[in-house]
Amino acid sequence: MTVWDEVVGQPAALDVLRSAAAAAAETVAGGPVAPGAMTHAWLFTGPPGSGRSVAARAFAAALQCERGGVGCGECAGCHTVRARTHADVHLVVPEGLSIAVQEMRAIVVTAARMPIGGRWQVVVIEDADRLTEAASNALLKAVEEPPARTVFLLCAPSTHPDDIAVTIRSRCRVVALRTPAAEAVADVLVRRDGVAPDDAGWAAQAAQGHVGRARRLARDGQARARRRAVLSVPASLTSLGACFTAADQLVSAAEEEAAALSAELDGPETEALERSLGAGGTGRGVAASVRGAAGVLRDLQRRQKSRSTRAQRDALDRALVDLAAFYRDVLLVEVGAQVRPAHPEAADDVRRVARVLSQEDALTRLDAVLACREALELNVKPRVAVEAMVVALRLR
Ligand SMILES: [Zn+2]
Repeated sequence: MTVWDEVVGQPAALDVLRSAAAAAAETVAGGPVAPGAMTHAWLFTGPPGSGRSVAARAFAAALQCERGGVGCGECAGCHTVRARTHADVHLVVPEGLSIAVQEMRAIVVTAARMPIGGRWQVVVIEDADRLTEAASNALLKAVEEPPARTVFLLCAPSTHPDDIAVTIRSRCRVVALRTPAAEAVADVLVRRDGVAPDDAGWAAQAAQGHVGRARRLARDGQARARRRAVLSVPASLTSLGACFTAADQLVSAAEEEAAALSAELDGPETEALERSLGAGGTGRGVAASVRGAAGVLRDLQRRQKSRSTRAQRDALDRALVDLAAFYRDVLLVEVGAQVRPAHPEAADDVRRVARVLSQEDALTRLDAVLACREALELNVKPRVAVEAMVVALRLR
């Protein structure tokens, strides 16, 4: 399996990345390279689930591939990048709501060093749209005057100035990914994850081209149960009381999902940090180091809290995407379009809601769901935003 097999349904982008990786290998070998074939800064854009960071990491692996940049998936270079242990590949993954300037400055300093493995220093910045303005400026300096063997791979939803600073965007070559076709998603679930073809087909359709979601739905019974609960919401909204119950369920489910993630990650992280700080040690200097350690621990707790907030928002956003698709299915029924619905298993509820709502009503409700997503992006309190939405979704 080559490193490119992870990149689902993106033939055009792969052509560009493959030839750039080959040119990069030529540069390392000291051979002649066509001008413009390789460049120091890349911006991977595409809708959520299109695999921006997957494509960036595949490219990073190909840049470190020992077999002429083909991304063979078998050499030590490819392996270590995929295992996230390659000394010259630095992954910046925001766990909170933003990437801080201190983190960016540290990365820029590391990136300026010569690559240990003799190929490239690669910095992959997932969710570059979460760079704070100061972090963005720190990165800009490095992107403007890149060291000879340093490559920056940035991922963001789009090239819009809200997602990436214009100054950085103008220095990057853009690789635009698209939502992969359901067939391509199903295919990779079968091939890579060993999912049965029928289950893979259902999950790919239900996840609407989002590869990670499709895999979770195919393999995680709790994810399927959460999705069923979300899809049962629209038909249940027959009274104001039912609206508030549904809002509470949507928010609580997201909180529980985030709490489960925190329970899994926070404990071991804190323990590892305490161990590395020598908790429980005795002797000279311990008191001083304990005082310093308290600050480091507080810092970790702050990041953990921020990650939990993000996880809660992401979970809620997934529910909203499912709800939006539900009202899209309602509209499909109303106009009699011969298009495959996103939620075939909710067909009964879709028809029931379609009988009650006019096309205009359904559109208004679709708008209410999308407005809720925007409100959450703007940091409106989840419960407030969801209650406002659910009341607007009520069946009259
Ligand atoms: Zn390789």
